[in-house]
Amino acid sequence: MRDYAKMSATYAPTLKEDPVEAELASHKLLLRAGMIRRASAGLYSYLPLAWRSIRKIEEVIREEMEAIGAQEMLVPMVVPGEMWQESGRWDVYGPELLRMRDRHERDLVMGPTHEETFTDLVKNELRSYKQLPVTLYQIQDKFRDEIRPRFGLMRGREFIMKDAYSFDADVAGMQKSYDEQKVAYARICERCGLRALPVVADSGQIGGDTSVEFMALAEAGEAALVWCDCGFAADVEAARAQIGVDEGPGAVCERVETPCEGTIAALAAFMGVSEAACRKSFAIIAEDETPVLCLLPGDHELCEVKAEHVFGHYDAMSEEQMAEYGLVKGYMGPIGADKRVRVVADVSLRDSKRWLVGANEEGWHIQGACPGVDFEVDEWLDLAESKEGDACPECGRPLKEARGIEVSQVFQLGTKYSEAMGATFMDENGKEKPFQMGCYGIGVSRMLQAVVEQSHDEQGIVWPVCVAPYEVEVVPLDTRGEVWEAADAVGRALVERGIEVVVDDRKERAGVKFADADLMGFPYQVVLGRRGVKNGMAEVKDRKTGERADVPLAEVVTWLAERIEPQRMR
Ligand code: ATP
Ligand code: MG
Repeated sequence: MRDYAKMSATYAPTLKEDPVEAELASHKLLLRAGMIRRASAGLYSYLPLAWRSIRKIEEVIREEMEAIGAQEMLVPMVVPGEMWQESGRWDVYGPELLRMRDRHERDLVMGPTHEETFTDLVKNELRSYKQLPVTLYQIQDKFRDEIRPRFGLMRGREFIMKDAYSFDADVAGMQKSYDEQKVAYARICERCGLRALPVVADSGQIGGDTSVEFMALAEAGEAALVWCDCGFAADVEAARAQIGVDEGPGAVCERVETPCEGTIAALAAFMGVSEAACRKSFAIIAEDETPVLCLLPGDHELCEVKAEHVFGHYDAMSEEQMAEYGLVKGYMGPIGADKRVRVVADVSLRDSKRWLVGANEEGWHIQGACPGVDFEVDEWLDLAESKEGDACPECGRPLKEARGIEVSQVFQLGTKYSEAMGATFMDENGKEKPFQMGCYGIGVSRMLQAVVEQSHDEQGIVWPVCVAPYEVEVVPLDTRGEVWEAADAVGRALVERGIEVVVDDRKERAGVKFADADLMGFPYQVVLGRRGVKNGMAEVKDRKTGERADVPLAEVVTWLAERIEPQRMR
């Protein structure tokens, strides 16, 4: 029989003060509770307590993957550069990709994700439609040289990811594999105690067309999302909401003097119209060097992700470039701009006939400008970032905003990688076909911190039972005599019952022990004092509710088991 864990022998160096390097509550608490340590920017060590939680999250993932027939394996973390050249991502993936040379001058990359590695693995060996579908996955460290590693495990450079890849014979098969992963992902969030929402996502650099992200709802989340009571929810980067726009002032096209600051807010106030009645101009240089003027409803921003899909890696125009193309900062507009400038406008503006735009002259605007008459729009595109109040694309009601932490994402890839890398199989008619693929990623380490971000209070972490490093902490207020004997007995009995317990055997003052117990946040604390023990009683504290119950020593184990076992959801 294994002994219970002892706090004196647990490597969990706690901190009294808030570490200066941390902004987020979850980051502070994981550092303070002695669960993680920073080795360098975006590089963290998981100390024993955090590692126990990580293993639990991984276990939940393994069970849910097994339930849908996905097979666990492991590929190398270091991948030959040729595979990335073959897929075409060598040139597309930016400096986040850590590239290295070995002693033979061969290119290597530190895997940030493994579509290439898995596609290459099955290529030539998964040969017949009869062998399909196949879904393979691994849980492994990934490396992305993030431009701004921050918030601890939330945005690390090295982080733990579970990544799965499905190979199917046709689109219907891929859809099924994808749907199964999506259901499993929802279960994984739920079992790990996260309040998460599946949202429509942009498929980003990985490509493909259909994708969902699971967002752990949190004020501190880096991702913005819009949602509706009807069930619609989308990342603002992907949402295609219906934006209501107002017509601008002025029935005829004419110049108006606007001696106000060159911002939309100032312009709207000066003209006595809504911001939605103004038109925002944003000048960029597209990846192919074309100068572009983007016109948007005045109360909306250009969505960078949408713009990147159209313009590639674009840059905002510098003041010199603006001058070259006849554009004036703060007073930009399509009229009077150089002919070389491509004018694009957000689709929401398509039916609007009276635009208030900059006149490309300091202190002047043009009102009543009509597209197609007073200036040309070369293309109507979906460019605006959705926001609160825009109409839901499914039911038309106003959307609401929330923030979230992206903990996982599922993608349909189609044949993007299989085609590029020549990964084919023989179909029923003896024809070579590329695999229909899907890929599915969970940020395991980010998930751990997301749990803490959603579940903590002033005193510390409040672990949900399912991912708590230990389920119970026994806190004896004396480490000798009767009290200690009771603690030792409770500890042993809990172990025997299969409950994960740590006993605080340190010779510390009660106050220190209580503070640490709350900081580390194990779901239940069994407090043993001299008077209680004499009367055969323990005090059990529920960390989440703060409720305390006097429980006879003889019943403590059953009392706890009754509460803990159902919460494990195993
Ligand atoms: P983000 O938009 O936050 O940069 P991503 O969409 O690029 O993430 P994916 O390629 O979808 O990330 O990777 C799968 C999962 O890996 C993400 O859902 C996230 O939980 C996790 N992840 C991605 N980047 C990081 C990181 N830098 N640190 C920790 N976890 C990460
Ligand atoms: Mg993602």
